[in-house]
Amino acid sequence: MKPFDYQRARDLETAAEAAQAGGRIIAGGTNLLDLMKLQVMTPERLVDITRIPGLDRIESDGPGLRIGALVRNSDLSADMRIRTGYPVLARALLAGASGQIRNKATTGGNLLQRTRCPYFYDPAMACNKREPGAGCAAIGGVSRMLAILGTSEACRAAHPSDMAVALRALEAEVETRRADGATRRLGLDALYRLPGERPDLETTLEPGEIITAVLLPAPLPGATQSYRKIRDRASYAFALVSVAAVVRMEDARIATASLAFGGIGARPWKDPEVDAMLSGQSPSAELFVRAADRLLAQAETDEGNDFKREMTRRALIAVMREATGLAPASTGTDKAEVPA
Ligand code: SF4
Repeated sequence: MKPFDYQRARDLETAAEAAQAGGRIIAGGTNLLDLMKLQVMTPERLVDITRIPGLDRIESDGPGLRIGALVRNSDLSADMRIRTGYPVLARALLAGASGQIRNKATTGGNLLQRTRCPYFYDPAMACNKREPGAGCAAIGGVSRMLAILGTSEACRAAHPSDMAVALRALEAEVETRRADGATRRLGLDALYRLPGERPDLETTLEPGEIITAVLLPAPLPGATQSYRKIRDRASYAFALVSVAAVVRMEDARIATASLAFGGIGARPWKDPEVDAMLSGQSPSAELFVRAADRLLAQAETDEGNDFKREMTRRALIAVMREATGLAPASTGTDKAEVPA
């Protein structure tokens, strides 16, 4: 690890000033320290925000909740307001990482964690995300964990967060504080950039702008929430495919559906057209197949990750069957073969 300066920020103003001057914000450090040890990231200054008061609370925000950026993933998943009102979020958190990591990882840090593309973690490999213009060793390489939606010729990395997938299904927003002291709220679609030609630019946060909280809207009364994650082993593995769903039924019809997907997108993936085509309809296998076809219409795969098409399709169908009470398929069509 290269030498670096360490600064403990006493308030957001100090932290923002230091970040604007090039300092790298650190909280739980569960991703950043790994990247520094591998010399994938070599910040000259770390700005520790863990002692800034007031950011580690879960508070009421009108009918919803305000989750401070420093709330630990383990505390968030155990909070009774989350477990009862937002079970999709609790389940996504528990499906992510190990217990030890959840004890350290923070809400803000979870949102800003970097991709787990193996080429990104190897400084000997070309990577546009690590070094703009260097090329992308993943193209033509091992693509099993790469994204199939929202990618570009410059980068095909998948976003790694489970929590962010649940937050997209819940239509959560992020609250930030800019370096000039102004605050703003933005949805996760506005927070995350697609890679385009600059995959090193992952969010729309400005220099010195800090995530201070996640804002959850009021829970949707009567809605079923679920999170399903398919991965190579039962714990401590990133998603091949995951689905977060918030579905409300009314008179045997799908009144509203909000789906989000992990493991397949360059950012936590949501397609409003999929939600729209499900909402107001009677649940049926045909409807769910059409929704999956719509979701995957723009997917780009290669030999190494083409299995994600079928896996995503079956995961969507299985989650929607469960949420709407439609009987599971008797022929096992909700299962998918996963190539090793
Ligand atoms: Fe880097 Fe993205 Fe290519 Fe992976 S897919 S090597 S992160 S540019």
